[in-house]
Amino acid sequence: MLNSIKQKLISLFELFSKLPKLHRQLIVGLSLVCMLLVLAPTSYRLASTDIALPELVDPEYIATVEQHVSMPNIPDYEWVVEAGDTLGDVFSLFNLSYTMSKILEADKNVLSLDVINKGDKYRFWLRGNDDSYDSKNIVLTRMEQVLGIEHQVVFQRNGDGFEYQETILEGSWRQRRINGVIKSGSSFYKSAVALGLPANDVAVIGRLLKSKLDFSRHTAAGDKFQVVISSQYIGDIATGNTKVEGVRFFNRKQVYSAFSFKGNYFDSAGDGLERAFSRYVVNARYRVSSRFNPRRKHPITGLIRPHNGTDFATPKGTSIYSPGDGVVKRVVRHKYAGLYVEIQHSYKYRTRYLHLSKSLVRKGQRVKRGQKIALSGNTGASTGAHLHYEFHVNQKPINAMGSKVPVVIGVDRKSMLAYKKRVLDLIKLMESEKLTKANTNSNNSG
Ligand SMILES: [Zn+2]
Repeated sequence: MLNSIKQKLISLFELFSKLPKLHRQLIVGLSLVCMLLVLAPTSYRLASTDIALPELVDPEYIATVEQHVSMPNIPDYEWVVEAGDTLGDVFSLFNLSYTMSKILEADKNVLSLDVINKGDKYRFWLRGNDDSYDSKNIVLTRMEQVLGIEHQVVFQRNGDGFEYQETILEGSWRQRRINGVIKSGSSFYKSAVALGLPANDVAVIGRLLKSKLDFSRHTAAGDKFQVVISSQYIGDIATGNTKVEGVRFFNRKQVYSAFSFKGNYFDSAGDGLERAFSRYVVNARYRVSSRFNPRRKHPITGLIRPHNGTDFATPKGTSIYSPGDGVVKRVVRHKYAGLYVEIQHSYKYRTRYLHLSKSLVRKGQRVKRGQKIALSGNTGASTGAHLHYEFHVNQKPINAMGSKVPVVIGVDRKSMLAYKKRVLDLIKLMESEKLTKANTNSNNSG
């Protein structure tokens, strides 16, 4: 019986592939409409409470995501996060508490479920045991987390557990300049924000130039500034992410400048403006008990469980020091990662510390390189006391013990010509008479 259905499907597919393109598009379109009609009432039956279900399909989502990520089919349920919502709410709606714990087990390696932001979308693919859609027997086969059009995480069922795949699109970056003057009674911060420079980027500029210029004491009304920032786009849609490409600040006949080059910032002479990272975050050389391994498999379940960090065999209570300056983004308790801390060092770099016994910092706090931030421990799912340390570049984990951890001193001699050219290009844009609104550029700024 099943075989004959399969045969029919294969011949249908062959017929389909021979049709002209327009016909095929029509068939796909009509099929989507039919699927909607079939799925819609099913989803209403799924909800055992009287919570209103959101629209099944967001046309904007289909248009933007289809181009980049293959979509298996239309989700059965979509949850758009509102203020006060928790992940637990939506899982208990479908009696899926056990499933949630299995998803969190996979999330230990990506930690994307701790920060639930208003407006984020979660899509659920559900089926009943025996495909019967009995609300007491729902099985979650796939969950998609849409954290922005450039950022998605997919949790896909594999046996009793889940595996994740994180997609971060680079898109393209469009440059624009913001030139201004500090007005009397104002500050650089206020004047720049008033002209549309995002507050994050003003803070970045403050950090880059702080070793040369004290913004709170030495800047004055009449000081000029020129900034080139770029905004990230996926197609024609802005993601909201921006970064500083270059800045010049004119104060008391001096020019203070910073230019990004290959993701790091330098002054006009090519000297680095950011402090290098320390390689180690603990004082003694503890044994590495587990290395960075993005392709690790779980020995029993066979599930892909990337090891995105380096484990050090630290006894409980070992002091952990920040490897660079930064801002504490998270202090979170996770069922599997335990108590963990995340520090954002710049647009490009962040670090994470898992299984802690104690955090010595709070969210939003500024930290300096070498500052004690936490004590190691054994919290979450951990077989013994250790520190799990992660180093991320552009939101992707890299080997913290490898060669890519930046030890920025200055532009190397081989790249100096390219750097000088980039500085000239940025200054040209800052000085240009015409206000160039959007200057598409996706080259060496990443
Ligand atoms: Zn680890």
